[in-house]
Amino acid sequence: MKVKADEYYSEMQREEVINQLKKLNEYNPDDGLTKMRKKLQKISTTRHLQIWHDHSTLANTGHIIFTVNCLYDPAIHMTDKVYKDTTGKVVDVQTEIEKPHVYIVARCRSCDAEQLAYVETRLCCLQHLQKNLKTADGVEIKDKMRFFHGDSPSREFESGQQKGGHYYCSGCGAHADRVYELDYCFRCEPVSLEDRQNIVMKGPIGKRNSFLQKPKPFSALTREELESELGAREIYEGKTKKELQNLLYENLHGVSRVPALLFTNPSRSLESLNLGNYEVLPCEPMHDIAHHIENLLTELPSHIEDENCREKLVEAVTLTTGKKETKRAVDFRCSLLTTSLYVQGTASSSVQSLLDTMVDMQDILYKEDKHRSPRLILRYHNSSWYHLTLCRSIIGFNLKSKTVRKFYGTYLHDLTAHAPLQLRLVSGRTSNAEEEERTFNTVKSITNTTSSYRPAHIISNIFIRLQAEEKLGRSGNCVEKQQSHVSRLAHSLPPQKNTKIPQTLIKKYSSSWQAHLERISDFLLPGEGVWWSQDDDFVEFFDACGEAEFRDEGPPLHHFRSSTFKNEDQYLKRCWQQCLEREVIIPTHIIRDESQDGKVMRIYTDYLTGPLFAELAAKIALGHTESDDMSLEPDSKHLTTSFNNALEEDPEEENSGETVAEFRLIGGEQPEDLNDDNLLGASPVTKHKEEAKASGMIVIYT
Ligand SMILES: [Zn+2]
Repeated sequence: MKVKADEYYSEMQREEVINQLKKLNEYNPDDGLTKMRKKLQKISTTRHLQIWHDHSTLANTGHIIFTVNCLYDPAIHMTDKVYKDTTGKVVDVQTEIEKPHVYIVARCRSCDAEQLAYVETRLCCLQHLQKNLKTADGVEIKDKMRFFHGDSPSREFESGQQKGGHYYCSGCGAHADRVYELDYCFRCEPVSLEDRQNIVMKGPIGKRNSFLQKPKPFSALTREELESELGAREIYEGKTKKELQNLLYENLHGVSRVPALLFTNPSRSLESLNLGNYEVLPCEPMHDIAHHIENLLTELPSHIEDENCREKLVEAVTLTTGKKETKRAVDFRCSLLTTSLYVQGTASSSVQSLLDTMVDMQDILYKEDKHRSPRLILRYHNSSWYHLTLCRSIIGFNLKSKTVRKFYGTYLHDLTAHAPLQLRLVSGRTSNAEEEERTFNTVKSITNTTSSYRPAHIISNIFIRLQAEEKLGRSGNCVEKQQSHVSRLAHSLPPQKNTKIPQTLIKKYSSSWQAHLERISDFLLPGEGVWWSQDDDFVEFFDACGEAEFRDEGPPLHHFRSSTFKNEDQYLKRCWQQCLEREVIIPTHIIRDESQDGKVMRIYTDYLTGPLFAELAAKIALGHTESDDMSLEPDSKHLTTSFNNALEEDPEEENSGETVAEFRLIGGEQPEDLNDDNLLGASPVTKHKEEAKASGMIVIYT
């Protein structure tokens, strides 16, 4: 750590303070000198902590393990270079700082009721955290619990989300059948732990059962209880008990109880428990990447027509992971890199891009904090959007070896909907729980070789031997070794190029493209030519390795010490509104905007008016003009009034997935064909669309 005494900050000159704040991306020109000094002192003396837990079998009995680690933050910790200059030693500071420490090992079954028994111990420790520690020089260091990270079931436990089912995502509560619709997912607001507490405590029954410390306050309710709970949520529909249950289920979006740490005090504020800003990270890179690569490489060969390419792909996968009994995350990453390299030249450009975007995503989510920059964030946003869009256009919804739910489910959802926003606050390396996951292996081998298997002996034995191993320096870091192996392999790949999105794809997936643009609106604000440009065929983003990491025009890099997921969401919404108000050039031909009365307005722009859009102009010239809701200013510089509804009538414009949403909103029964995993192409939706039109239903194509 690089802590300084209080006097250091109070005596600092204005320029030096500004300089240091700028380096940390915390400079605000409106702040006065005293405020800036205080801010710098505060962030330079606050450490943030992260917790992890998982459940597994140890000596034939269920055990739960908690670990804690400090988060690397350049405001308080030295960089690798400063450390080398000070001590003469070459060390990866972030890896050293973020090393996990075993905190609780407990005998416990996998059910919520038993795991929740350890909440009180954790709360007690959180209270102690409020007592500041003093360094040898007498400087007080404040500790704050900031994040939880772990695999999907652990995240669900920590945040109080149902396990599995239709609403498995604890980050946004999106419905499982709609996770592949990016326009829907990208607009699902992040749900904070405080939101969850409010959702549960909103009705009388949820409140009563939470105070009674029931692990499932909304299960087994009587009809009267359901009615009174729904009444508090202003829902007065439903007659039968089943209908009432369904209504409540849909209203809760998978929230099943208050967050774990509030279980014993459901009405206390998070702030009072020293948990202000405590968040559950919605994406854990190791699990999400490994499982998605596995799904992708299993499914992809069945969707490649070219025989030569298909054979090569299968061969590469078989040679890399095919014969291995235990497959680690690193094996899947290497397999992907090898496959991408091996099929070069034989694969079509879209298949190659599908593999390359995933190569990019796994690379970025393993990068350390020192590499996090606006360029990297933009790259991840683009790669993840492009990857999912290519999955939809190449693999589609007629899967051969995986189900739609498995392929497009939790892993791909986390990587596309949550990881980009997460990267805006925290590096992929920090959120990764690979080192923590290894704790179970170490603990298992200690127990198997040295314990008497008596319950009383197992836990104390683990702690003593873990400490001894650490003292003897035998607890080496495997992540570093694996990372260098992957990096060596990545060097053989061709150099990274800027992301170029074909305009045909933009036109085909215009809704999800707009949802993507909304999430990178801070990069669009500086205008065309700063982070992006366009030609007749492509929209190009300047996001390849070698392009500027930061640009004077913005946007700034945000950090978990001063921002949260909710703040980021609000910030992007503001940026998007500014783009529309200032009429900043945006690379899209249509902008859908919701008016105050909830009507969808279509604003047609004259950007991207390449040859592809000539057909549109032709349609308009032929007189296919119907009035449409448009918000246009007559003297607007960039907006034109010439385009109309013609585009919406092009049957190929929208993929089935993007329109599914609207049928649910209208309130009609969801078509049966869309209900399960065998979601096929466009036919069921087209059919339903026609039926809807025939029956006079209003179909909104957003
Ligand atoms: Zn989600």
